[in-house]
Amino acid sequence: MTNQSCLILIKPDGLVKSLTGNIISTLSETKLKIIGAKVVSVKKELAEQHYAELKAKKPHIFESTLKYIMGEFHTPRVMALVYYGEDAIQKIREIAGKTNPEDADPITIRGKYGRINSKTGVFENCVHASDSEENAEREIKLWFKPEEIVENLYPTKKSKKTEEVLDWA
Ligand code: UDP
Ligand code: MG
Repeated sequence: MTNQSCLILIKPDGLVKSLTGNIISTLSETKLKIIGAKVVSVKKELAEQHYAELKAKKPHIFESTLKYIMGEFHTPRVMALVYYGEDAIQKIREIAGKTNPEDADPITIRGKYGRINSKTGVFENCVHASDSEENAEREIKLWFKPEEIVENLYPTKKSKKTEEVLDWA
C-alpha cells in the first residue's frame, strides 16, 4: 500500500453548473482525506504551468484548454482540492472517468456531467485529477503553499520575503 496525494480541480464548468457538492460527495466514496481546499481565480501563468505537458503533447488544443481553465467560457473560478490516502491517484482517476466525456463510463464524474463543446471542441469534463505521483507533486506545489495543506507532504524551507502582501484592513 502506498499513501499518495492527488490534486483535484473542479473546473469552471463544474462551478457554473453548481456541481461542487455532487463532485465532492462522489469523491468521498474513495474514503480519502481532504487535506487542502480553496477557490482560485486562475491567472495565465498558473494555467500555462499547470498544462505545460499538454503544450508539447497536444499543441492544437493548448490555447483553448488554457481559456477553459481560466474560466473564459464559464466563470473565472476553480476549486482546488488535495486528496490524500491509499492509492489516491488510481482511485480518483477511476471515479473521474476518461478525458473525453463521450468515452467516459456514464457513472463517472466526467461521464455524468461532462460534454464536448461543439463550438470550441474542448472536452468540458468538469474535473482535473493528477495522473502520477510526480505530476501530483508538481501540481500541488503550483496550486498550494505549504501552510495551506494540513499534512507535511513535501520538504519545506524557510525564506524571508520582502515584497508587500495584501492583508485585511
Ligand atoms: N483536452 C481537450 N481535448 C483533447 C485533450 C484534452 O479538450 O483532445 C482538455 C480536457 O479538458 C482535458 C485537459 O485538456 O481534461 C488535459 O488533457 P489531458 O490529456 O491531461 O487529460 P486528463 O489528464 O485531464 O484526463
Ligand atoms: Mg492530465
